[in-house]
Amino acid sequence: MDHPELQSRPASPLVEAVDERFAAHGVRLLLKRDDLVHPELPGNKWRKLAPNLRAALEAGHEQLVTFGGAYSNHLRATAAAGRLLGIATVGIVRGDELAARPLNDSLARCAADGMRLHFVTRSRYRAKADPQALAELLDEAGASGAYVVPEGGSNALALAGCAELGRELRGVTDVAAVACGTGGTLAGLAAGLAPGQRALGVPVLAGGFLSGEIRSLQAEAYGGPVGDWTLAEDFHHGGYARVPAALESFAADFASRHGFPVERIYVAKLLWALTTLTTAGAFPRGTTVTAIITGRP
Ligand SMILES: *Cc1c(COP(=O)(O)O)cnc(C)c1O
Repeated sequence: MDHPELQSRPASPLVEAVDERFAAHGVRLLLKRDDLVHPELPGNKWRKLAPNLRAALEAGHEQLVTFGGAYSNHLRATAAAGRLLGIATVGIVRGDELAARPLNDSLARCAADGMRLHFVTRSRYRAKADPQALAELLDEAGASGAYVVPEGGSNALALAGCAELGRELRGVTDVAAVACGTGGTLAGLAAGLAPGQRALGVPVLAGGFLSGEIRSLQAEAYGGPVGDWTLAEDFHHGGYARVPAALESFAADFASRHGFPVERIYVAKLLWALTTLTTAGAFPRGTTVTAIITGRP
């Protein structure tokens, strides 16, 4: 029997945003408020974690281990999910220098939710891609035998959870747009949309490596490419967690126009990209574009 927390939830709200920057180009903007899908866990993190937690519990694991940096939303969400489901969590954190300092707010939240934090050097953190190095790391963290969720939470089960988001958008939009970190959310979203609908991803990291990652995530989950998706690569604003002043004021303005809190690391870059593409005429008149609001500040 499923844990009550893991029972399926109602679709997240879809609301129309009246914005003259879009209306002037004949584009209809919808907001998919996936930040509201769960009271304690923001949108895509919940969609990615829920199927993994279900699998961990079904296989009888009492502990779940995952990986992240000092400000990782994924670590925070995993810690909260572990508390809600009564499953022990271990977070392997990049940067051994952090062990000697007071915890930042994000890591303090993880610890308060019961996550055991294990700090490792950057080189060992990177080396976890190698199975032998990973096994040693887990052993040292007291997490051998734990259910392993990869960094960022993107695996085949996570894609299945995000495909549900795509299914919730069938028949209501031409384009479904989402900000991308690992690309797992986009990879699953694209798989859940109906033929004729397109997923558009906005990477928040610089580097142009994401299409390859998305292809390999889809290959792992589905055996090959699924759905229609593209990336808009020019909207990372200098890289992860960079929020230049222009982006900051754009986000503050968007929040006051539309009356919801705009998360800066991902959601602000998505909304900036959609506004810029629309004013540049990238969407034909009559297009409906849905911005997926994946989280809250
Ligand atoms: C983690 C996160 C993303 C990125 O999701 P990926 O599946 O890693 O691409 C997007 N938005 C928010 C708010 C997030 O926390």
